[in-house]
Amino acid sequence: MITQEHPKAVIVIFGATGDLAKRKLFPSIYRLVKNKKISENFAVVGVARRPWTNEEFRQNVSDSIQTSMKESANLDEFTSHFHYHPFDVTNPSSYLELNDLLNDLNTTYKTEGNRIFYLAMAPEFFGTIAQNLKKEGLTATEGWSRLVIEKPFGHDLPSAQTLNQEIREAFNEDQIYRIDHYLGKEMVQNIEVIRFANALFEPLWNNRYISNIQVTSSEVLGVEDRGRYYEKSGALRDMVQNHMLQMVALLAMEPPIKLTTDEIRSEKVKVLRALRPVKDDDVAKYFIRGQYDSGEMANEPVVSYRNESNVDDQSQTETYVAGKLLIDNFRWAGVPFYIRTGKRMAAKSTKIVVQFKDIPMNLYYNKGASVPPNLLVIHIQPEEGITLQLNAKKDDDAGYSQPVKLDLSNNFLEGINTPEAYEKLLYDCMRGDATNFTHWDEVALSWSYVDPISDAWKEGKANLTTYPSGSMGPKEAEEMLKKDGFKWWPVN
Ligand code: NAP
Repeated sequence: MITQEHPKAVIVIFGATGDLAKRKLFPSIYRLVKNKKISENFAVVGVARRPWTNEEFRQNVSDSIQTSMKESANLDEFTSHFHYHPFDVTNPSSYLELNDLLNDLNTTYKTEGNRIFYLAMAPEFFGTIAQNLKKEGLTATEGWSRLVIEKPFGHDLPSAQTLNQEIREAFNEDQIYRIDHYLGKEMVQNIEVIRFANALFEPLWNNRYISNIQVTSSEVLGVEDRGRYYEKSGALRDMVQNHMLQMVALLAMEPPIKLTTDEIRSEKVKVLRALRPVKDDDVAKYFIRGQYDSGEMANEPVVSYRNESNVDDQSQTETYVAGKLLIDNFRWAGVPFYIRTGKRMAAKSTKIVVQFKDIPMNLYYNKGASVPPNLLVIHIQPEEGITLQLNAKKDDDAGYSQPVKLDLSNNFLEGINTPEAYEKLLYDCMRGDATNFTHWDEVALSWSYVDPISDAWKEGKANLTTYPSGSMGPKEAEEMLKKDGFKWWPVN
């Protein structure tokens, strides 16, 4: 339910001295205010242990905005809404003082008792903070209170269930906003519109006309300084359980009967329920795991994953996953959804390629072969847009056709300043629109799908393979598609 078009609230950021707050949250709040999406009736309280003053905190906010934005007017006025309250979140007695501060700010900024608690901290603190907020009465206000939670939401189903129980003791499901920042991306949100607002696509969006769908999310960066976190996570937990499965759900879901949060989520849940579980002995057939070796990126040598700092030199952690997902329902029976994601790959790209089936009889040829398939490419990042690959006449040769592209990428959004994912998600949360956040049912089903794969890997049921840094992944991933008569379409 959307509560306010121009929301008023006090936003409490736990972890306000951290990286996420500085790179994403402060600039997002600035843009929301600048674009008049949120009213002047707002305040932000930063919580962390560092003994900063309000002034030091405001300077940090100001620096973050100047670094990330081309233009940064009225910064003093903007940062005057920011307040800092240092304490260790494991100390229950400090929450009472925080409550006093929130009540004062509520009076000053007339925020109608609305509160957002944004947990931009390590997940081990999520349960403790949520429970302390409830116990010390911070959630009992005259307005609404909402909890925003960053990933990762557990590291498997049992840990996610435990975390969920802890949080649910303090907040109802409809007060919990689990961030999957891919769901805030313009072109991910556009998947539904492309599908359900175009007579051209929806009739073809099934196993009669689509041969396979490929979802790629590749990064050029390595693990950088996050080795300690990544060693415990790996690409399956870091990317597949959340972002990749969310994109598959949006691509595969049935049209919702209405564009409401509950109806959309319910259709996504049905897709996750229809995912065919991967049996222990089949894991090697359906999922490839790889780790980057040394190589070259932009003509510079780079080290292997095992030589990164805070990484075990015998590490078995995967930095790459490719998978073949099958969805057992009427619409998708027989259509593979291939996913792949990895670090230190040749290009930074998130793209979806929908490959249509060949026409029943081919009258034309292309370079001595049959004509290539029609492709719909949804570009998610870094460029945004869609490309449709068709076949058209070439020169005067009657039987010759060549692929042509209807390209609505790069330029079609030119001039439009696409809002950052975090900006949209923060705004949605303030308005009470949970559509682009992950419901617990989705989290649980995603872990149920992913857990048997990581268990089989742990038991050594599939080899960890390597790929050179700067490549598009291990050859085994190419072979997986080749066996099905397909190939990965290039992403750059
Ligand atoms: P970070 O830079 O390590 O920041 C952690 C914050 O927690 C710091 O402000 C730290 O401040 C505070 N903190 C730690 N222990 C505390 C305690 N006992 N009491 C009070 N404050 C404490 O982490 P981050 O990169 O911002 O990530 C935060 C969360 O967002 C994580 O769940 C992460 O997985 C998720 N996330 C981050 C990114 C990103 O781009 N950074 C992207 C996606 C998801 P003090 O040291 O001053 O206490």
